[in-house]
Amino acid sequence: MIYMDNAATTRLSERAFEAMRPYMMEQYANAAGTYSFAAASSEAIEKARAQVASVIGARSSEIFFTSGGTESDNWALKGAVLASTKPKKHIIISAIEHHAILHSAQALERQGVEVTVMPVDADGLVDPAAVEAAIRPETVLISIMAANNEIGTIEPLEAIGEIAHRHGVLFHTDAVQAFGHIPLDVERMHIDLLSASAHKFHGPKGVGLLYIRKGVKLGVFMDGGAQEKKRRAGTSNVPGIVGMGAAAEQARAQMEAVIASESAVRDHLIERIEKEIPYAKLNGHRTNRLPGNVNFCFRFIEGESMLMLLDAEGICASSGSACTSGSLDPSHVLLAIGLPHEIAHGSLRLSLSEETTMEEADKVVDSLKVIIPRLRSMSPLYEDFVRHQQ
Ligand code: PLP
Repeated sequence: MIYMDNAATTRLSERAFEAMRPYMMEQYANAAGTYSFAAASSEAIEKARAQVASVIGARSSEIFFTSGGTESDNWALKGAVLASTKPKKHIIISAIEHHAILHSAQALERQGVEVTVMPVDADGLVDPAAVEAAIRPETVLISIMAANNEIGTIEPLEAIGEIAHRHGVLFHTDAVQAFGHIPLDVERMHIDLLSASAHKFHGPKGVGLLYIRKGVKLGVFMDGGAQEKKRRAGTSNVPGIVGMGAAAEQARAQMEAVIASESAVRDHLIERIEKEIPYAKLNGHRTNRLPGNVNFCFRFIEGESMLMLLDAEGICASSGSACTSGSLDPSHVLLAIGLPHEIAHGSLRLSLSEETTMEEADKVVDSLKVIIPRLRSMSPLYEDFVRHQQ
């Protein structure tokens, strides 16, 4: 099998798994317990808090553990609106946010909150000057992702954060795809709230975090017990949190080397596809992109058919067309960068990890060189196109 769907999820690292094991077996105490048996659990949580905080230049006390990126995103948007004392409320997001942000914003809109959706350019970049122009007296929050999950474009966080703070507006970033993969610094980037999720950087599934800058008021999203300093109720997922801490520490220590190795494989894939497969278009910013992201549109191809044929070759990849949702709509991200429907349907995302090799990359391109002409040979549109070319 060749696994190139690391943006969907990653393999748990050996180190994270070993760190978690005792907290599932011997040290199973509820971290909130008052007896000494529970102390090991609460100490392990505090160690993990420090490990994740150091990835983004935060203090441990500013980290709050959640069930993943989706919960963190919901909490940031809904909590910021809930805590705001402004009589009218307005938030700014981008058109290429993950559904955890888009649907949270739509839910707030139904409750009377005004939402501005910033367009992006053909590379998927948000324009900081346009964000500034969209700020109003009632703006509570700006939420712009650190890096896009489909096309890999890295957004200008520092410039947007500076603008947000100059206008006294909270700045949230969905860093689910960026945390542990590229350098992030909450101080330099003026970030007030940041979402991350362990399973995107070789930690376990179902655990994430929300960074909340000291002094930022945020409404409570999960009501219940007094966990996480009364800000996020629910029995702490001790093994999950420990695994996230271990994976974060590993990601931080290896970041520079992983960026170098992943981007070399990424650039090799891009170069070979552009050279050897006609009518292929690279999506996302050419240089300002995640080290592990490759995204192409192949004209006259249905993304789903391509995935099925790749799967038959043992290759796991994904496409921007939203077949999983039962809808035939192409990805909102590809439409937002200006691709027409018929081209957006033929997209392929290959997302790498540090384990991806050049040999695997070559095998994928070699397979695509067989699959794509085969699918095109069945397309009446392609036939038509070729006839007009002659
Ligand atoms: N935000 C982005 C950018 C993502 O890529 C994802 C996951 O695909 C999420 C949020 C949701 O994270 P989780 O799977 O931890 O709920």
